[in-house]
This record gives sequence, structure tokens and C-alpha cells, in this order.
Amino acid sequence: MIIVLKPIHQEEDLHRIVRKLEDLGLCAHISKGEHRTIIGAIGDERVLRDVPLESMPGVESVLPILKPYKLVSREFQPEGTVIGANGRSIGGRQIQVFAGPCAVESREVLEEIAETLSPLGVQFLRGGAFKPRTSPYSFQGWGEKALKFLAGVRERTGMLVVTELMDPRDTVLICKYADIVQIGTRNMQNFRLLTEVGNIDKPVILKRGMCATIKEFLMSAEYILAQGNDRVILCERGIRTFETETRNTLDISAVPLLKQLTHLPVIVDPSHAVGRADLVPAVSKAAIAAGADGLLVEVHVRPEEAMSDGPQSLRPEAFAAMMEECRRVAEAVGRTL
Ligand code: PEP
Ligand code: MN
Repeated sequence: MIIVLKPIHQEEDLHRIVRKLEDLGLCAHISKGEHRTIIGAIGDERVLRDVPLESMPGVESVLPILKPYKLVSREFQPEGTVIGANGRSIGGRQIQVFAGPCAVESREVLEEIAETLSPLGVQFLRGGAFKPRTSPYSFQGWGEKALKFLAGVRERTGMLVVTELMDPRDTVLICKYADIVQIGTRNMQNFRLLTEVGNIDKPVILKRGMCATIKEFLMSAEYILAQGNDRVILCERGIRTFETETRNTLDISAVPLLKQLTHLPVIVDPSHAVGRADLVPAVSKAAIAAGADGLLVEVHVRPEEAMSDGPQSLRPEAFAAMMEECRRVAEAVGRTL
């Protein structure tokens, strides 16, 4: 249920409504927009059946949220959310780029990669310290050692660190080093993990499960917001289809659709979507044209030597050329990059 307050209302009206909802066992989420304050009543709405909220002082209207996801829905918050991350914003006019290797391999290689990204204006360095690999015999990531290398590069370049959390037992460790925590496609419905990141004070990039519907994706985001963390960035990274020429199939329509259904920022990972470096620039431009708020791109100085995902990693020169082309598409759709 959404309770819309009158443009002019008393602070005490707001508190009275919140107290009422809490007394009924509901959670009250307050959203103060530029023009309107709204209160989301989350929980078992049946308790509201005989409560005349409309007649409480300060209330303009009471609307049911018809979607199964509440806090993430546009109905709940009509304005797009702009997420702050240590002085940078995601979801505003500026399109943000999160770039770096699939996995952190060594301090030297990470620094080499970062030195090619920073001059291009990339604000976020991505790199896995704990890698979700299909085979238990594949490289699993260097753990804390890799996190320290990432933090070292942040120190030198100012780029913020994005890295994946796979296990609730690593939350404190990851949060010690990361500026943004990533939840990977394989964990999109790991509800314990979602609840865990719902309680941290860091933005979260939530990647769409490779077989997840849009509704399931938004329900997973709802898990995080329901715990109190409203800094969630959705990432479309391709879904499984019958096609085998590409690693996955980028669901480009997910971008405008998500922008319609939710107020959360939406970014696109073209690298895992296509699995081939040669297709990444075209797909990135398409993502920006479709309204994406950012790109998550794998870049490596020597893709042929990469410990994971070499074939989809762009060389720095190709990445620089792509940034230039993306900049022009961004301008064409009224954004900056
Ligand atoms: C990644 O970004 O490093 C990654 C493993 O991606 P995904 O979870 O989308 O496969
Ligand atoms: Mn990867």
C-alpha cells in the first residue's frame, strides 16, 4: 500500500501514520521526493482492510501497489534513484563505466590494466577476488590478497573498487576493501546472501540470474531493499537461450522495461552477455542507446594470458576506441560519459 501525503502536511501527521502502521505490524518506508512524500506500508496488507487511512490528517490518497515487488517499483517512487558511492553517482545524467579484469591475477597485471583505464575517465575498477567458477579445478581467485591489490590501485588512481561477494561469511572482509559489492548471476536468488547485503552500508550491483525473469530479478532486488539497503544497481548481463554463437543473449529490451518498472539504476554487462570481445563495442552502444545508466566491461592487457574470460576481454586500445564511440551515443541520448 502506498500512502501519499498532501504537499503541505505536518511532520506530526507523518509520524502518526508511521506509528499506526507499525502498531499494525507493518513496516513503513518513507520516501521524500521533490514534490511528494509517500509512505510505503510493507507487510501483510490484510490488517489495513478496516483502517480508514484516507481520513487521517495529512493523507491525500491511499493506493494499492499491484506489483509483487513494492519498494523497487516506480509506483512506490516515481523519480529515478541516483545512487551515491563515495562521491560518484550512478543513475544520474552521467553514464558510469565499471571496467577491469574478470579476476585480479597479480598486482602488476592489475596495475597495468588500471593505468590504461584511469586516463579514460573510468571511475570504477572491477575485479574478482572470489570467482564463481563452473569447475572446482579452475582458478578460484586470490581472496584477500586480491582485495588488497584492488585497494592499492584505488589509493593510486582514485578509482573505486567493485568486487563480487559469493558467501555471507566473507561480507565483513569484502566490505573492508570494496566500495560497491557485486552479487553475481549465480547468486541472484541466494536469498541468505541478498538479506546479508540488505544490511550493509554499501551500494550493491545485483546481476540478473542467467535464467531469471524480470519479475524474479526485481523480487531479488526487493529482498535487499526490504532489509533497508536502498542502494541497488541492477545489471542485465545476458540470459540463456538456444543460441550458442554467443555466450548468452543480451536482453536489450530488459533495459527500457526495467526503467519503466523500477526507479533503480540499470547497467549492462556486454562482456558476459556476448562472451566475445569483437561484439562488445556494438552491444555497449546499443545498451547506452536503450537507456542504460552504465556499463560493466572486462578489459585485460593480454587477454590471451587471462586466467578467466580472456576471449571476452577487450584490449586497452579497443576499449579506448569503444569509449569514444559510446561517448557520442551518450551525447545523442542526452547523457554524458
Ligand atoms: C563477473 O562479473 O565477474 C561475473 C562472474 O559475472 P556473472 O555473475 O554475470 O557471470
Ligand atoms: Mn568474467
